[in-house]
Amino acid sequence: MRAMMRADLHCHSSISDGVLSPTELVLHAVAGGVDLLALTDHDDVAGAAEALSAARDTALTFIPGVEVSVSWGEHSLHIVGLGIDPSDLSLRAGLQSIREGRQGRAERMALELEKIGIRGALEGAIRHAAGSSIIGRTHFARFLVEQGLAADVKSVFDHYLARDKVGYVPHHWVGLDVAINWIRGAGGIAVIAHPARYRISSKERHHFYEVFKELGGEAIEVVSGAAHPHEQRDAANTARRFGFLASCGSDFHAPGESHIDLGAIPPLPEDLVPVWTRLPDVLNRQ
Ligand code: AMP
Ligand code: MN
Ligand code: MN
Ligand code: MN
Repeated sequence: MRAMMRADLHCHSSISDGVLSPTELVLHAVAGGVDLLALTDHDDVAGAAEALSAARDTALTFIPGVEVSVSWGEHSLHIVGLGIDPSDLSLRAGLQSIREGRQGRAERMALELEKIGIRGALEGAIRHAAGSSIIGRTHFARFLVEQGLAADVKSVFDHYLARDKVGYVPHHWVGLDVAINWIRGAGGIAVIAHPARYRISSKERHHFYEVFKELGGEAIEVVSGAAHPHEQRDAANTARRFGFLASCGSDFHAPGESHIDLGAIPPLPEDLVPVWTRLPDVLNRQ
């Protein structure tokens, strides 16, 4: 069963900053040969019901998920929750508070961009976020590309929106403990998303993994869309050292925009325990 499983446990729909609807995403995953798909929109679980019903007539097993924006000290980190109950009230209320915080952040980002002569960024980003329940940097990035200010979304981040660039504003997200409690309270497994993306010293990183584990975190993304092979080897070693379950996901947002298509990620190392072996939805299907 292990060798046959094509899992993609990290991706985004138009509910957050992806461009495909939950239904389109499921159909795209089926076409890409995915057996097990988790939708992990930023700070919202509103796409789960539609994705679940789209998956019903297919061979694909759908797992409700979420990607929670977290602050840990000065760092912004992403914690994925897998196998959560999307109707859990504490989780839903908590995510709503993060989404509300995103509004003021977007206004502050637009003010920073205006200082360097980029007008109408808030309105433009809101237009790109139409149909979505959050506003985020990707929506600003798509507006800047449309304005001809950069060739693609990635270059917008490199020049304007990444940490320490002109359009970046610090923001206070929820605490790591709070996010893990919401995920666990909703019956889910907490996963460290794309560990290679964080600019964090190796000493602090070690401490972060210890704290994450102490707080009830159980898994880490070992195979992640944009990660290099050496970064995936580091993440695999972290899983071994801390006894974390291993997850994998493309972090797919949009055809042509994302590094890797849905389901096109390499397999997990054989010796690691895949996170899906602990997901009840998967066990029930066997
Ligand atoms: P936010 O949650 O508003 O801070 O936006 C985070 C999102 O921005 C991520 O989920 C990605 O979709 C996107 N993002 C962050 N860094 C980059 C990058 N270097 N290139 C492309 N997209 C990025
Ligand atoms: Mn995103
Ligand atoms: Mn992320
Ligand atoms: Mn993501």
